Amino acid sequence: MEYLALYRKYRPKELDEVVGQSEIKKILASSIQNGTITHAYLFSGPRGTGKTTMAKILAKMVNCESPVNGNACNKCQSCLNILNSNDVIEIDAASNNGVDEIRDLREKANLVPTNSKYKVYIIDEVHMLTTQAFNALLKTLEEPPKHVIFVLATTEYYRIPLTITSRCQKFQFNKISNNDIVERLKKISVLEKIDIDDDALMEIAKISDGGMRDSINFLDQLRSFNGGKITLNDVYDVCGNVSSQEIVTLFVNIYNNNAEEIVDFFEKMDLNGKNYGKFFEDVISFMKDVVLIKREVNSKYIKSSIDDVKKIANLFTLDNVFNIIDFINNLMGRLSSVSRQSVIVIANFLLMMDRINSSYQAENLNDDIKKIHDNENEKFIKFTSSKKENSANLTDNHNLKDDKVVVDSNDLIPKISVKNKEIIINNTFAVASKIIKNNLQSKFSMISDYLTDKKFTSIVGTLIDTTIEVAGDNYLILSAKSDLIVDKIYSNYRLCNEFFKMLFDNEYNFVVINNDEWNKYRDEYIKNIRSGKKYELKELNDNNLIQELVSDSEPTIVDKLFDLVGEDNVEFK
Ligand SMILES: [Zn+2]
Repeated sequence: MEYLALYRKYRPKELDEVVGQSEIKKILASSIQNGTITHAYLFSGPRGTGKTTMAKILAKMVNCESPVNGNACNKCQSCLNILNSNDVIEIDAASNNGVDEIRDLREKANLVPTNSKYKVYIIDEVHMLTTQAFNALLKTLEEPPKHVIFVLATTEYYRIPLTITSRCQKFQFNKISNNDIVERLKKISVLEKIDIDDDALMEIAKISDGGMRDSINFLDQLRSFNGGKITLNDVYDVCGNVSSQEIVTLFVNIYNNNAEEIVDFFEKMDLNGKNYGKFFEDVISFMKDVVLIKREVNSKYIKSSIDDVKKIANLFTLDNVFNIIDFINNLMGRLSSVSRQSVIVIANFLLMMDRINSSYQAENLNDDIKKIHDNENEKFIKFTSSKKENSANLTDNHNLKDDKVVVDSNDLIPKISVKNKEIIINNTFAVASKIIKNNLQSKFSMISDYLTDKKFTSIVGTLIDTTIEVAGDNYLILSAKSDLIVDKIYSNYRLCNEFFKMLFDNEYNFVVINNDEWNKYRDEYIKNIRSGKKYELKELNDNNLIQELVSDSEPTIVDKLFDLVGEDNVEFK
């Protein structure tokens, strides 16, 4: 008998079998029940999360002769035959992306279905279509034949023109949770008589990163690799991974100056034929988690075991960790061009160990944290000290202690002038574009990758707690959970600008406001749009939006404060 891949064998045949995506399942079932199906659906989400599977199930549901609560009965002639009939057409836009293919599709779509109520076109990876092909598709979507339903599937929603997305009912597929993946794999393992440990299943789920298809394919691979019971180590062996416990052991040995153990570790790795590239990637991603812990970033961003990460965070300073990441990055770049990789790796790790230990002062974690805070406050300290100078100019022999009475230190955090803030918000609404927003959001969702970037780490750690609300050409509104975050971002406005320029490939005038304030602006916007008000672009007062508060020695600190933050915002205490 021909071998059937597990993924195909266990592909869900009805809604209830689909793992996760419960909202989508509910909406689709009720639309069948209520007879409110539309002619174009857009399924977007990460790979392997069930988009095509759901599209096929939908094709059954809309054609089923006797649906049960909106679900396909899986018994009628239509349910049994439709997926093999000519009425469900699956097109891979990655290889059929031209205008001719779509024109051809349009012509065929006009022909009535052979045996079914609806012809269902499933276009996979639809973002791969050329502009002309999208235009051709758009004509069909504008006036679809009554008997045709399109299901467009994509992993890159933001690459689809607004003209297309606006004509579709949109569904966002989420990554599947590790627990859901484990549950599903367990069921398959029982049915297939695969003997596998629970922690091996969990590791597969983690590696698959929310993709059901990848996880089942991985199980399939492990089954053929291993005749007997599958353990966690088998998982590591097959994917070339080293466990995070092994990474901990390695770095504890580096901390303790155990050269022999380090040599031993890499020789074993070499013997087992493990891949250095994959290993170093794992170490870097582990060290990224160490940085996150040290910076007290929300633990939801941490992918490795928190206990393991804490062990290493307690041993090394943040500087050490950055150096380790830099060091491994460089080593990775050099490795591909050498023949005896293990020798180079061992020599370099011993060198790194020496450097870390010679520079390392036994400081406890609290000292490290204090250091980080000092760095972050550097700018603030600069402000206060120059403020002291200015005030000293104002009144000779002024007691420095009294300076603190002049203005509360919080007011020394630069703020955007009220006028400029209103203009930026107005202009962002004037140029607001959903496509640009989606595009920026998708880039913004990757910013945790920059937490290990020395230059941007402090600002990224703050930006992680903000949300892009509106965006358009050169304008951007962010919301933040608290004023503390707002202040931190304004203190680093230029660095933020620089970061955005690098991340978004474009310059943005932006404001960041707290959630309450954002809700007010949003409501006002909605009200204005409803009443027909148009937002016109206004000119910004000053290109230099945020000025150093006390960068020159003019003795007019209070005037400057009024000028910069508006009189209302300066409080004397
Ligand atoms: Zn049926």
